[in-house]
Amino acid sequence: MPQHIRIREVLLMEPPKPSLTIKGWVRSFRNDQFIAVNDGSCHENLQVVIDPQQYDPALLKRITTGAAIAAQGELVASIGRGQKLELKAQHIDILGDCPAETYPLQPKKHSLEFLREHAHLRMRTQTFGAVFRIRHSLAYAIHHFFHQKGFIYLHTPILTANDAEGAGELFQVTTLDLKQLPRTENGEIDYSQDFFGRKANLTVSGQLEGELGAMALGLIYTFGPTFRAENSNTTRHLAEFWMIEPEMAFYDLHDNMNLAEEFIKYIIQYVLDHHPTDLEWLANRLQEEESKKPQTERSGMNLLEKLHFVIAHPFERITYTEAFEILKNSPYNKKKKFQFPVERWGMDFQSEHERYLVEKHFQKPVIITDYPKEIKAFYMRQNDDGKTVRAMDILFPGIGEIVGGSQREERYDRLLHRMQELHISPNELYWYLDSRKFGGCPHSGFGLGFERMVQFVTGMTNIRDVIPFPRTPKNISF
Ligand code: ATP
Ligand code: MN
Repeated sequence: MPQHIRIREVLLMEPPKPSLTIKGWVRSFRNDQFIAVNDGSCHENLQVVIDPQQYDPALLKRITTGAAIAAQGELVASIGRGQKLELKAQHIDILGDCPAETYPLQPKKHSLEFLREHAHLRMRTQTFGAVFRIRHSLAYAIHHFFHQKGFIYLHTPILTANDAEGAGELFQVTTLDLKQLPRTENGEIDYSQDFFGRKANLTVSGQLEGELGAMALGLIYTFGPTFRAENSNTTRHLAEFWMIEPEMAFYDLHDNMNLAEEFIKYIIQYVLDHHPTDLEWLANRLQEEESKKPQTERSGMNLLEKLHFVIAHPFERITYTEAFEILKNSPYNKKKKFQFPVERWGMDFQSEHERYLVEKHFQKPVIITDYPKEIKAFYMRQNDDGKTVRAMDILFPGIGEIVGGSQREERYDRLLHRMQELHISPNELYWYLDSRKFGGCPHSGFGLGFERMVQFVTGMTNIRDVIPFPRTPKNISF
């Protein structure tokens, strides 16, 4: 047999083509004649047409949903509805059987919950095929965006001894025998005997190391896995997720916001340009899901309109204090419709508040800046009011926070003082403080949660459905 050609390339060909071979998996087999084959290269199936007279009935029986086959024949224009091309097969090989009696995926629609329980097979469905092709393209576009701007992709560590935010939620890493822990004289666990000679964990963020890179290379970004032992079972949190963290020397908060907005718009546009059929499929899926909701909870726009809308309009930019006033005076708050009433300046916004601002009040993405310092990390630049810091969070419709960033505190004394206030050990983080001691400069950066971005672009409502193998509390099977 000649080398096979992937279906996305076949679909670009001008028929007729005398002999070519495709390989893929059977989606459906109708009337002993029409085999819909998908090879994962694109959303579309290729219709393979056979003359049942020419085949052994035993072979025909093995053409079942999910079976891997090779088909060789002539590519011709299709007269049937639904496709432009079809392959008139002279030869079919079964490469892998898929017995219908035991195959969990039937040729019908399965719920996302069912598919989550069969995550090892779900990538074979049209919805997940579309999601993971788009996830790939987003990753590609991210690298492209930063590369063409001269950013250096910096690989920050996954195993680390520091807890970037002092916030807990860490996965500890150890090679100690948990049944026989070594103890110090005063009975504490003796980490000097652990692999690294001290306590270690999986990273929650590459930012602190990223800042060190920016102080030498100017513009850097990280793109790697991060881990948080969050025991919150939400549709927006994973225990293992991917984060993109650019860090820019000589950028202030406005430069930071401008970059983040340009970046987000660029990667959305990239997917719009490259995945029209995948997006159309996902838009229809979402519309069907939304049609089951009560009228008031439905979004006015379909998925494609939403993506175009985000690209076409500037993000709203407001301070925390302005957002607080809007929320406090909102009819929602007055009618006590928030689970957490908005009363006290300084409170952290809950996702219900973020969604109110984005979905009800502004009806577009919102960047909130200058948060109270008590609810933000120690490294954010302190404002002169003594109360707020140069933070910026980007909030998205349907998602809530998608980006968290800030201008960093570059003044050594201020940083040290804030660390002491928060009982963060300057000795442990001496290397971080050194970046302020030796040629420190104004700089800024942000973190984009990759899966939340994939959620927004694909319209998938649960974050578990945009990562191949989600890790959440009590769930690590696949
Ligand atoms: P949230 O308040 O939603 O928990 P956060 O304030 O903990 O977010 P950051 O520490 O600022 O988030 O992390 C940067 C970005 O990483 C967030 O804006 C979000 O997009 C993403 N992110 C944070 N935690 C998770 C998680 N558990 N799963 C997936 N993405 C996450
Ligand atoms: Mn969080």
